[in-house]
Amino acid sequence: MTDKLAAIINADQANSWYRHSLETAFSSTSAPVNTQTKVCVVGAGFAGLAAATGLHERGFDDVVVVEAGEVGHGASGRNGGFIFGGYSLSPQALVRQQGVFRAREMYQLTTTAVELIRQRVAQYQLDCQFHDAGVMLADWFDRPDKLHKEMQFMNQSMGANWEFVPRSQLCRQLETDRYYDGLLETDAAHFHPLAYATGLAKVLDNAGIPVWQHCPVTSIQRDGNRWCVKAGEVEVIADQVVLACGGYQQILKAKPRQAILPISTYIMVTERLPELLPKLIRPAWAVYDTRFAFDYYRPLPDQRLLWGGRITVRDPDVKTIEKRLRADMARVFPALANVKADYVWSGLMGYPRHEMPMIGESEPGLWHLTGFGGHGVAPTTAIGDLLAAAISENDKRYQWFKQYDLKSVFGAAGLIAAQLNYWYLQTRDYWRDPQR
Ligand SMILES: Cc1cc2nc3c(=O)[nH]c(=O)nc-3n(C[C@H](O)[C@H](O)[C@H](O)COP(=O)(O)OP(=O)(O)OC[C@H]3O[C@@H](n4cnc5c(N)ncnc54)[C@H](O)[C@@H]3O)c2cc1C
Repeated sequence: MTDKLAAIINADQANSWYRHSLETAFSSTSAPVNTQTKVCVVGAGFAGLAAATGLHERGFDDVVVVEAGEVGHGASGRNGGFIFGGYSLSPQALVRQQGVFRAREMYQLTTTAVELIRQRVAQYQLDCQFHDAGVMLADWFDRPDKLHKEMQFMNQSMGANWEFVPRSQLCRQLETDRYYDGLLETDAAHFHPLAYATGLAKVLDNAGIPVWQHCPVTSIQRDGNRWCVKAGEVEVIADQVVLACGGYQQILKAKPRQAILPISTYIMVTERLPELLPKLIRPAWAVYDTRFAFDYYRPLPDQRLLWGGRITVRDPDVKTIEKRLRADMARVFPALANVKADYVWSGLMGYPRHEMPMIGESEPGLWHLTGFGGHGVAPTTAIGDLLAAAISENDKRYQWFKQYDLKSVFGAAGLIAAQLNYWYLQTRDYWRDPQR
């Protein structure tokens, strides 16, 4: 393995609270040098695991999964753990692009996926701190009319289940005067994402679907009417290949790479706060707010607070991340200004230009399943399952997404444009803030 490759693969998950609190890591057998299979899934994030699990649940077990690092190494094992409906693209934009009927069907794939996650956690007894507590969208801008409209749109047009929570009530639940009213997505939940990913990998492994870790795929070539997937010495000959590499596409120069912008976001976990935390955050909700670059946070079972936020195209160093996140946290909860952060980490989200998942065959038998951006827990489950249905049952619903194809993001120029756009949107939010 080259040094550059090793650096990409080993990048920085070490200081995540998820790694430290994971009870039993997944240990895989090492990959044999030669394997023949029907389906080879590349990437053991939620997308790859959802596709493999969907195949397994349909009785299709001639599958292998290969992962460059460890299971959940990418965004899936580092994220905020919010499990809620929708995509990175807003539902309103989805309606403009698809019409209300198809947009509702597409949105409901994700709410069905929330239910599917809930069902898998129960069925496979996945020990992943699943909290069926709902997700609160707290308004930063004092726009009750806009919030009421949003709720009506979500409930009537998308078939969602959102509740309006007036400021007087929200302020009794969250000890801050930073927010105005809120919308509670009652069917949403949150969990320990690395434990969930690890749990799914164990289910697959027990079912005879191997998940090979430390197996970075560096080439995929045609082999007659099959595909040859190479990871060092390891060679997998497969009828079909599924590329599910998220924002971690640097290793493999394949087509999806040109269509993904790797965008960073950050999380820290505080020291234990047994006295303070229950006074500041009473419900077990996961919370985010109505800005473009919102804060997201949730209480953890060991009385710490997980706090995430910020988006950039380059990773600053850990000290800078910590400083910024602590300032964000103190702005909402001044009482936390002096608490320590015990864990700080970053992760890459894979963003396409159109902000929608990309699923399809770029050549016969070569599938891509990627582009979930910052809103991927439920969508990876939904679209991974669509892909499993496409392969095993010839289900054509994946074609609902054909408009969202592998459009080039124009490499470095695309990253600069994205950063400029983020600064613009953040500045606009700053000027709209009634408490600035
Ligand atoms: C910090 C952070 C917080 C987030 N919070 C939330 C949240 O609370 N809720 C939500 O819905 N979404 C959230 N997201 C987004 C969500 O985590 C992602 O959209 C989702 O996990 C993407 O899953 P994936 O499987 O497509 O990609 P990943 O999880 O990134 O998985 C891709 C995998 O492919 C592997 N891989 C790459 N190249 C190769 C190769 N050549 N060979 C073998 N393996 C390879 C990688 O190692 C990686 O494990 C967050 C993202 C981040 C980074």
